[in-house]
Amino acid sequence: MKYYILFGPPGAGKGTQANAMVEKHNLCHLSTGELLRSEIAAGTPLGLQAKALIEAGSLVPDEVVEGMIEARFKGTEGVDGFLLDGFPRTIAQAEALDAMLEKDGEAVTAVVSIMIPDRMIHERIAHRATIEGRADDARPEVVENRIRTYHEKTEPLVDFYKGSGRYHEIDGIGTIDEVRERIFTLMDRF
Ligand code: AMP
Repeated sequence: MKYYILFGPPGAGKGTQANAMVEKHNLCHLSTGELLRSEIAAGTPLGLQAKALIEAGSLVPDEVVEGMIEARFKGTEGVDGFLLDGFPRTIAQAEALDAMLEKDGEAVTAVVSIMIPDRMIHERIAHRATIEGRADDARPEVVENRIRTYHEKTEPLVDFYKGSGRYHEIDGIGTIDEVRERIFTLMDRF
């Protein structure tokens, strides 16, 4: 099985690129943000726990997302691998993921990191807010907190994965097609 991590700051275009990646490589797309939003919409206890944190632009507890991911690894059949989107987001989650995979003799195949400069993060999120209507895109202070949280908690993962030779960076500036082609060229190597 292939285990790809789609990495990048909020607004880098992860969700946009994920669909083409899963289709081309027969992967199961696991977006923890989307899974959490479905839990909220369904009014589950997990959704209730996550709602306030997401609306504040903060992370939900590591154990919550780790449990969601592990359940999907176990319950998904008929795919050649997984595309993790928005997970891991902390060093603790990355370590938990490595441990989860190691138990089954598996490992992270590659981290595909879509990078855009900080100034573009704001532009992209503002643009997405007009299209998708996500509550956490609409309030400037929430967007700021998500960007701060990314720099503090998630960006250290770059060095974590560079250290083990699994980190691959893609330039996220350009059209959707251009970025997709860069990703496809990279993924063909694995
Ligand atoms: P996203 O759709 O990836 O931008 O995620 C939306 C929100 O869901 C984030 O701002 C977090 O509050 C929460 N979330 C998503 N993935 C994770 C994760 N791996 N760890 C903690 N919180 C997460």
